[in-house]
Amino acid sequence: MSEQSCGGIKLLWYSLPSKASSGIKTMAGKQKRQPQRSCVGCREVKNKKEMLRVVRTTVGSVEYDPSGKKSGRGTYVCPAKECIDAAISRGALARALAMPVSRTELEEMRRALYEAISQTTLEKDNI
Ligand SMILES: [Zn+2]
Repeated sequence: MSEQSCGGIKLLWYSLPSKASSGIKTMAGKQKRQPQRSCVGCREVKNKKEMLRVVRTTVGSVEYDPSGKKSGRGTYVCPAKECIDAAISRGALARALAMPVSRTELEEMRRALYEAISQTTLEKDNI
């Protein structure tokens, strides 16, 4: 069906250019709405929605942000232990947030992120 309508747009291009171009615009707009972020642990670029967000809040603390909407400087990590560990132990997290993060805060963050990925796994199991 989608292939057929694509062909239709192509054919329309000759007779109705305005209609065809508006169709193309919609398609391009849809593709653009997939924000990508690179992981602070492995540097891989992934869909933002699949990642965990860590934010430096406006008061200067570091928090895990499940909503992804907290204001502040955010950074992203894959929901994987290897990436969380890399981000924490290599100091990549502090670098990405451009702030010093204490050992305690780092350990708390690691725990929060571990919890976040174990919850995701549980939810999947329940479904
Ligand atoms: Zn990663």
